[in-house]
Amino acid sequence: MTELLQTITGFDLWHLALPVVSARDHGIGRVEGSCEIVVLRLTAEGGAQGFGEASPWSVFTGTPEATYAALDRYIRPLVVGKRVADRAQIMEQASRAVAHCTEAKAALETALLDLSGHITAQPVWAFLGGKARNTIPLSCSIANPDFDADIALMQRLRDDNVGLIKLKTGFKDHAFDVMRLERIAQDFPEFNVRVDYNQGLEIEQAIPQVLDVAQFKPDFIEQPVRHHHYDMMAQLRGMMDIPLLADESVFGPEDMTRAAREGICDGVSIKIMKSGGLTRAQSVARIAAANGLMAYGGDMFEAGLAHLAGTHMIAATPEITLGCEFYQASYFLVEDILETPFHVENGQVIVPDAPGLGLRPDLSKLDHYAKQRSF
Ligand SMILES: [Mg+2]
Repeated sequence: MTELLQTITGFDLWHLALPVVSARDHGIGRVEGSCEIVVLRLTAEGGAQGFGEASPWSVFTGTPEATYAALDRYIRPLVVGKRVADRAQIMEQASRAVAHCTEAKAALETALLDLSGHITAQPVWAFLGGKARNTIPLSCSIANPDFDADIALMQRLRDDNVGLIKLKTGFKDHAFDVMRLERIAQDFPEFNVRVDYNQGLEIEQAIPQVLDVAQFKPDFIEQPVRHHHYDMMAQLRGMMDIPLLADESVFGPEDMTRAAREGICDGVSIKIMKSGGLTRAQSVARIAAANGLMAYGGDMFEAGLAHLAGTHMIAATPEITLGCEFYQASYFLVEDILETPFHVENGQVIVPDAPGLGLRPDLSKLDHYAKQRSF
């Protein structure tokens, strides 16, 4: 069947724990051992299938257990029996049925779009307004508590022609941050460097430490303080000429509207896992652009399926001009879940033109890494 009017008949879930190659420290917490994601598979009556990924992080967006329950118990009955074409209605009902759980909604919209793409033989970006770009510059984060291991990673990134790195700061102490910035400036001058505190600074530390780091002239400094400290974000922004970006302070279009009104940032990290889907992420980008703010495509601790969803979203969103951070599948996971590798070439993510998301997960890997399944 080729039409979108067919019914959705299957709703299957996997909760996965994917091993990672190293620890990573962010201001608000550490990831170690594995990262946990939830994969959703929708099946239509004609047999076509669509996949979506939810990539929660307990200290940032929510837990994998809550994501799984939101999909399994509360969203499943809103989806099975509906027509594939009714995507907007399904998303609206899901938003009303479950508060928060934005990663679950991102997985749902991704799977609906992938399914629509496979039924109609069109890439996901075609459903999001069409394609604005063929490649997206990749940024990789430097976040290992073992800085020697990150030096080896930066050598590998340089060999791979990745031009953007983001130094994660604020998880140990200021001297460690300054030492790493000095070392990067000296040994890796070819990188464009961004700095991200992930809310790591207390209010009383923020002004002196951020102004000190600003002297290294990074491309931008991101989210030094807790997400609700809008006043401190606005104050910091007024004290330096380095752009200040918001991440944890801005989840969806509602936060973006407030952030622009209160002048807390010069730009924003846009993530489908925060906004609750691809179309809401596009709304964040448009509100940012309308207010003269810049944007890049961030991500959570994701596997390739979520990277693909973000790639299609950014491909169709010209307002997102500062690249993306879809590095985990290539540089952080021991093994990704896709059948063929997420496509990065010369430091650029390549936007797929094949139907749906363009690549599919390997079902044997989903089963291998599953902690829980529900079919
Ligand atoms: Mg961030």
